[in-house]
Amino acid sequence: MKMEGEATTLKRTLAEWKFSQYPKYILLPIDENNEQISSNVKNVVFSEATPIPLENNVRLVCVSVDALANILDMDPDVSNREEFVEFVSGRKLPYGALPIAHRYGGHQYGLWAGQLGDGRAHIIGEYVNSRNERWQLQLKGSGPTPYSRMRDGRLVLRAAIREMVVSEACHYLGVPTTRAAAVIVSDEAVVRDMYYSGCPRRESAAVVLRLAKCWFRFGSLEVLSRAGELTVLRQLTDFIIKEHFPDIHLSDENRFIRLFSDIAHRTLDMVAKWQGLGFTHGLLNTDNMSILGITMDYGPFGFVDSYDSGFVANCSDGEGKYALAKQPDVVVWNIGQLANALKPLLTSSQQVHMLHILKTLDTYCKNKILETFLMKIGLKEERWGDEQLVEKLLDMMQQTGADFTATFRQLAELEPSELVSEVKISEKWSLKRLSSHASWGCWLDQYRERLDKEAVDASSVGMFEDERRRRMLSVNPIYVPRNWILHEAIVDAEKDDFGKVQFLLEVIRRPYDINPEAELRGFSAQPPQWAYALKISCST
Ligand code: AMP
Ligand code: MG
Repeated sequence: MKMEGEATTLKRTLAEWKFSQYPKYILLPIDENNEQISSNVKNVVFSEATPIPLENNVRLVCVSVDALANILDMDPDVSNREEFVEFVSGRKLPYGALPIAHRYGGHQYGLWAGQLGDGRAHIIGEYVNSRNERWQLQLKGSGPTPYSRMRDGRLVLRAAIREMVVSEACHYLGVPTTRAAAVIVSDEAVVRDMYYSGCPRRESAAVVLRLAKCWFRFGSLEVLSRAGELTVLRQLTDFIIKEHFPDIHLSDENRFIRLFSDIAHRTLDMVAKWQGLGFTHGLLNTDNMSILGITMDYGPFGFVDSYDSGFVANCSDGEGKYALAKQPDVVVWNIGQLANALKPLLTSSQQVHMLHILKTLDTYCKNKILETFLMKIGLKEERWGDEQLVEKLLDMMQQTGADFTATFRQLAELEPSELVSEVKISEKWSLKRLSSHASWGCWLDQYRERLDKEAVDASSVGMFEDERRRRMLSVNPIYVPRNWILHEAIVDAEKDDFGKVQFLLEVIRRPYDINPEAELRGFSAQPPQWAYALKISCST
């Protein structure tokens, strides 16, 4: 293992770069039948599956310099080499690769959907990096697998770009997430009816290289439990504990309960981060919920612009099942499905214990979200009345259509004394809108009073002010990948101009710092009118 401060020599060619010779996943049952499986395969966690490389003018769209250098120990210049494109397309797999597709199931929109599995993704191997972290590399869009269920196994460029940018953005915004290292595109056409309107169009097939410590989902355990494959269920659950939850001992007879509790709490910590950023995942099916409590499988997501608790990112979610404010409840329900999956491994008293944990989760999540919002408005600890203060602010935002990201940022940019100045407020486009609310003055009085209370406890009011603003600026981003910004980058990328995507990837690396070029492009200004009508398809 490298010692801290010791420089890592980044690999300059793929010939120097190798997968771990023994990926840990070979310890789990892998089906060797590399064919399409129409009915359910039994007693396996993976199937062998070979990527089908994209043909036809395959080229690089973008990379994450950080993921390449700091996760994969690759000199980012490697991405300029033809061999890198061949690697991401699945044509030339580095030494030690063992491509597989994962078998999982899931509840979709609340209903059990049966076996799903990686229908267009291949885990190609594990890399142990210079920090001794073990990462699984996955290609998404790399062709059909035994779990494709007659679909094409491909991913369109717009979806690959959205996944790439948002994975990296979430990482820098402090949201636990899978990562993305690169996107490639080809002239190979796939047909998608983006809005399910009977107007299919040809789009370019792309591949995104994704990274995670593992790709297990709630649905990984659900499919085994539902099928009554309890030996494999126990085997996989113990494997997850051993590899990913080192604080839990395999000899502990309550290990499954501890695992459940850890996953549940990590997952809800993640949800609190989402709510604090106005992030809506869009497709909260249990097959898209990581057992590591990290955000995964980005599709029809959105960061809300004008605040609306009922904001729905996914245009296929007509009932608004996965609306912004419903996410905590939906995720707690999903955790309930994880509990059901683990039930056969528990004694009856352990099952009762698990139910007790489940019952505490709503409150846990609510408190985490409140904590998040208090930090956003610069308060360190909760006091009586704080919950109403936050609720009132969100109500006013909803009623005035104030922008979510910009309102919190602009609150951080002004001194409390400046908040009462009409001139100062009129310089802040979102606060200006918010301040048109009849209750704004009253709310402001309460807010300033509350800030004063905390300042009184600090040794010096001046120092407290500086420190508070620093804190607020560090939790309220100026830039998030809004749908309109992604849309413009994608329109260009579909014409083979990747400049905007690459620029966006640069901006989201520092979401809390002003970027002069991003300012010129209006990234923190009021979104253009057309942005509010954008719809995001889950057809990817
Ligand atoms: P998603 O909606 O992306 O979470 O995917 C749900 C399920 O559908 C997963 O099993 C995917 O692998 C599968 N799937 C989605 N699109 C495709 C595709 N084009 N080809 C094969 N499988 C797909
Ligand atoms: Mg998925």
